[in-house]
Amino acid sequence: MSKHFDIIAIGGGSGGLSVAERAARYGARAAVVEAKELGGTCVNVGCVPKKVMWNAANLGQAMGFARDYGYQVEPGELDWGRLKVKRDNHIAGINEWYETYLADSNIEHINGLARFVDRHTIEVDGERYTADHFAIAPGGRPMVLDVPGADIGITSDDFFELEACPGRIAIVGGGYIGVELAGIFHAVGCEVNILLRADEDFLPGFDSTLRETLMAEMVKSGISFHGNTSVATIERQDDGMLRITTSQGQHIDGFEQLLWAVGRRPNTEDLNLEAAGVKTDERGFIPTDDFQNTNVDGIYALGDATGRTPLTPVAIAAGRRLADRLFDGRTDRHLVYENIPSVVFSHPPIGTVGLTEEDARRIHGDAVKTYTTHFTPMFYAFTRHREATAMKLVTVGAREKIVGCHVIGLGADEMLQGFAVAIRMGATKQDFDDTVAIHPTSAEELVTMK
Ligand SMILES: Cc1cc2nc3c(=O)[nH]c(=O)nc-3n(C[C@H](O)[C@H](O)[C@H](O)COP(=O)(O)OP(=O)(O)OC[C@H]3O[C@@H](n4cnc5c(N)ncnc54)[C@H](O)[C@@H]3O)c2cc1C
Repeated sequence: MSKHFDIIAIGGGSGGLSVAERAARYGARAAVVEAKELGGTCVNVGCVPKKVMWNAANLGQAMGFARDYGYQVEPGELDWGRLKVKRDNHIAGINEWYETYLADSNIEHINGLARFVDRHTIEVDGERYTADHFAIAPGGRPMVLDVPGADIGITSDDFFELEACPGRIAIVGGGYIGVELAGIFHAVGCEVNILLRADEDFLPGFDSTLRETLMAEMVKSGISFHGNTSVATIERQDDGMLRITTSQGQHIDGFEQLLWAVGRRPNTEDLNLEAAGVKTDERGFIPTDDFQNTNVDGIYALGDATGRTPLTPVAIAAGRRLADRLFDGRTDRHLVYENIPSVVFSHPPIGTVGLTEEDARRIHGDAVKTYTTHFTPMFYAFTRHREATAMKLVTVGAREKIVGCHVIGLGADEMLQGFAVAIRMGATKQDFDDTVAIHPTSAEELVTMK
């Protein structure tokens, strides 16, 4: 006989864990099905181990800064293997914490790959489970291009398996994951080349000021860009190095590694969604309405598999709101996918919220007015290596309501969260101007822009 739950979350990542946790708190009988380690992409092969590597990269840079400030230190090399052991242990601790947390919260952890049998039933390892509600949150996985030799390359998942820093690497793609990993590799001493099919492939969807500033800073730091480059084949040569041949027949040689950063696809193929009647789009994403409803009653989708704003806090927020709606009677509770702040852990980092200038002009035309500033933070007054800061406020209408705030530079990652609150509340340029500055900081520039 099958076991019945009020809600089953498929996927034990950010979205699935959050909906189950909140549902259980309201007294619902909840289960989470996870095929791999609990925590999903973010904990195992995403935000968490990536941020560890970003911190390590920053510490390497900081040793150089410390010397410039007068400390008698010589920058040393990163023991990548040693850091990996510590990082893996840290993540194993989080996985374990989730196991205990689920048990303590009366949430059943079902280990294995879930497949729908019909709209009320799934099967995991031959066992059947039924539920009143299913929240599908299977996340996604990195894509590689379908070209000869593609499997010689590694993906962001494999990045976390590396035991040492490669000497010279080609990164194919310039989305946020590509630029983050490029910055980390570069900061720890690897020679980094980024291959872009077109200029638009560099941080697509981000404001032009952020894109231009980051590109200029990466070039200045010594990262090489190969524009207008489509990878056609990859071969490992006799000397062990990789040769990349482009679709124009050019060769780019001498890489120890190639990393694909060409996007992610949803993990929806194995779910047998047809059995439940759940529709996907042509790329496999599950379309949802404002309330995370799929086209089938009682079946919802969350997180990266929906194709909407693939970020951990988004999956978490959507999951929690769904549980509030289903089990706490808050019938209108749903996530508004606007003004979602995000950070790119690049070098320098980016913090961004709201509309880009380009999108604001497309939507609001001449009602848009922007304020932009470029400067070098005071921190770099004594350092040889200096990174630029750029900031842009995008406003709309006579009241100059702020609809976009974009920052690149030292500290941008920690700067944006509070500004995102103000913007969500409808702040105007005058509100920013009326806020007393904190001096001396970079952030004060956001409330003193002319
Ligand atoms: C390199 C990298 C860096 C990132 N950095 C950040 C960051 O700094 N900040 C940020 O906000 N976001 C970041 N993200 C994105 C973030 O990790 C995702 O947005 C988030 O994990 C999505 O949560 P999810 O619940 O949709 O899916 P996931 O976290 O991917 O979880 C899905 C889970 O479902 C499981 N699963 C899949 N199919 C089945 C099945 N049929 N049965 C059972 N289990 C199944 C999978 O094994 C997986 O564990 C990063 C992503 C990557 C790849």
